[in-house]
Amino acid sequence: MKFNTKTIHAGVFPDPTTGAIMTPIYQTSTYAQSSPGEHKGFEYSRTHNPTRSQLQDNLAALENAKHGLCFASGMAAIDAVVKLLSPGDEVISTNDLYGGSYRIFTQIFASYGIKFHFVDMGDLDAISALVNDNTKLFWVETPTNPLLKIIDIKAVSIIAKQANALLCVDNTFASPYLQTPMDLGADIVMHSVTKFINGHSDVVMGALVCNSDDLLDRLSFIQNSCGGTPGPQDSFLVLRGIKTLHLRMQRHCDNGREVAQFLADHPKVSKVYWPGFTSHPNHDVAKAQMNDFGGMMSFTLSGDSIEEAQAVISKTKLFTLAESLGGVESLCGHPASMTHASIPKEEREKAGLKDSLIRLSVGIEDIEDLIEDLRQAIG
Ligand SMILES: *Cc1c(COP(=O)(O)O)cnc(C)c1O
Repeated sequence: MKFNTKTIHAGVFPDPTTGAIMTPIYQTSTYAQSSPGEHKGFEYSRTHNPTRSQLQDNLAALENAKHGLCFASGMAAIDAVVKLLSPGDEVISTNDLYGGSYRIFTQIFASYGIKFHFVDMGDLDAISALVNDNTKLFWVETPTNPLLKIIDIKAVSIIAKQANALLCVDNTFASPYLQTPMDLGADIVMHSVTKFINGHSDVVMGALVCNSDDLLDRLSFIQNSCGGTPGPQDSFLVLRGIKTLHLRMQRHCDNGREVAQFLADHPKVSKVYWPGFTSHPNHDVAKAQMNDFGGMMSFTLSGDSIEEAQAVISKTKLFTLAESLGGVESLCGHPASMTHASIPKEEREKAGLKDSLIRLSVGIEDIEDLIEDLRQAIG
């Protein structure tokens, strides 16, 4: 089955009792047993729920993986991956990282004896230099947030395999429409389903996919033991959102291309971070591992002051100032004071994140309206 067909058909099937085409919302915590231990595969909804099962199978198919697991948020999914590790283990992670990932690594798991290294993963030698016998996990996020750097997933997967460590890729920014890291050597793909996959800014959810049966067993055990699972209503909403993932992503990419070009041509804009430009330092890697370049981008203004950036984002009308990304509506944000506020200023600057940087999640509205909105806001 090809991608566009999978969004609609993979993992889902008409309800066997009524023929209902859409996956029912099995709003139940428990299931009747005919005698002790005799049941239809469902015992308790923290462990399994039929609505969630169909979503998990659909997500696995979209990512070209065997298994899928859903969590109550992207952070709960990340939490489950790190819980595969033990005290003394080390993680090598990209330094241009989602703020919440940096926070859970450094402020939760570091105190459980897990050591995290943050490195510019564009530099493969710098990654290799951090590998030692304790290295158990590589954490890649690409495109990165908010600088839209592209990390070569296949190249990192080779280093991870040599180190006998797992590679987990946070695929939130790309979505499986743009890239499927399992095909490039990832062991686990993680999603904040909240973003492009659900796409309607009305659900918070996370997911993991993997191929290994052993990893599935370990991650399911963590999922069930720690309990960060989503409910059936949210699972239904995400299944519905996914049915238009390919259409939405196509439009995000088309609109993204035009907005990026508009910004690049604007005299008050000093720099645009978008991997579709041939001048982007990782454009060749992006072209090789992604199907298109998406609607996420960042830019700085020529004055380069925090005040100038804040003036622009408070003037936009269609680009709503808000956290999050990947919904049908366009959003803008100021990473230094919003998503990345939990990363200390010195760390932000080391990673090249300017205080004047504005991030856009370009939605699927009419492009003329989006450009007009940015024109009047930038002035
Ligand atoms: C939002 C986000 C997360 C966290 O997901 P939640 O669903 O908000 O818990 C992780 N990684 C990236 C790249 C994100 O954008």
